[in-house]
Amino acid sequence: MASDSEVIARGDWYPAHSSRSAAAALVPRTGELIAIGADGVALSVSVVSALSFSSRVGAIPRRIIFADGSVFETADNDAIDHYLRSSGHKSVSCAYRLEKLHPRILVFALLVILLGVGIYRYALPALVELAVLVTPPIVPELISSGALSTLDKTALAPTRLSEHRQKIIVERFERVASGAEGESYKLNFRVGGLIGPNAFALPDGNIVITDELVALAGGDDEMLAAVLAHEVGHVEGKHSLRQIYRAAGVAGLVMLIAGDVGSGVEDVLTQGGGLLALSYSRAAESEADRRSVDLMRNAGMDPVALVRFFDALEEKLADHSRTSMLSTHPGTPDRKDAILKYRAGSD
Ligand SMILES: [Zn+2]
Repeated sequence: MASDSEVIARGDWYPAHSSRSAAAALVPRTGELIAIGADGVALSVSVVSALSFSSRVGAIPRRIIFADGSVFETADNDAIDHYLRSSGHKSVSCAYRLEKLHPRILVFALLVILLGVGIYRYALPALVELAVLVTPPIVPELISSGALSTLDKTALAPTRLSEHRQKIIVERFERVASGAEGESYKLNFRVGGLIGPNAFALPDGNIVITDELVALAGGDDEMLAAVLAHEVGHVEGKHSLRQIYRAAGVAGLVMLIAGDVGSGVEDVLTQGGGLLALSYSRAAESEADRRSVDLMRNAGMDPVALVRFFDALEEKLADHSRTSMLSTHPGTPDRKDAILKYRAGSD
């Protein structure tokens, strides 16, 4: 008889097409499994790949069918599962797992989900607001310089706009930004490359505009100023800081529940790509749109020049409407109406 240390499981062995059984042990040998009888004689041998294991269904005995058609049967389901797992098989049956899901476990899982939803809906927004409130100015500066230098190494390239062209755009930008609260605002020109026609605000007041967006405007500098005013609105409202904290909070929540978060939080906090991947909420977009109207009017320019920008986006980017500008600033169709209504109400 095989020694206990080698035995995977004990059970009965049935010759092919026979119901006469013999007590047997299932024993491994390099790349093979052997059914060994009580007298120590090998009853059947198969290479592992030629064996077939029945799925686990509750406490029903497991059947392992050898290449010669003989069958080893055992009630020791756990031993077989253990062997299958340790040898890299993936045949632990789903039916078994479902059956094992006790109602109490389901209730517990449901409670955990509800708790997660509750934190996400109610506690997280409050924590985000608190974090924004107590954030020292150095944090947005660090996030911004980190994000911009990452983007400069990856997506962005130095601008090809002439000094003269930049000066004209900066002059309008400064007129708009002078009406804004807090922060010092600075405009940065870059070739967008992969991110194409785009403008985005970093949390410390640095705003990036791509040559591609300037080209898209086709000389309508007032429209560019309106887009930049919208970005200033995002900085004023601390929208990107909120998005970053929210993403970090969600990642932390996932970590609490799942026990693993990977490098998500770190990516969001230090990588420019993470920053760009965060889309603003619709509420943040509406707020920035309204700020664009106010700031443009204060600067003596067309308050609703931003509407022309949406038209230009729709017209010129119709073929690839999933541009990053639209995906990070969602909700374009309704926004034009909202902007026009807001202007009418605030004139
Ligand atoms: Zn926006």
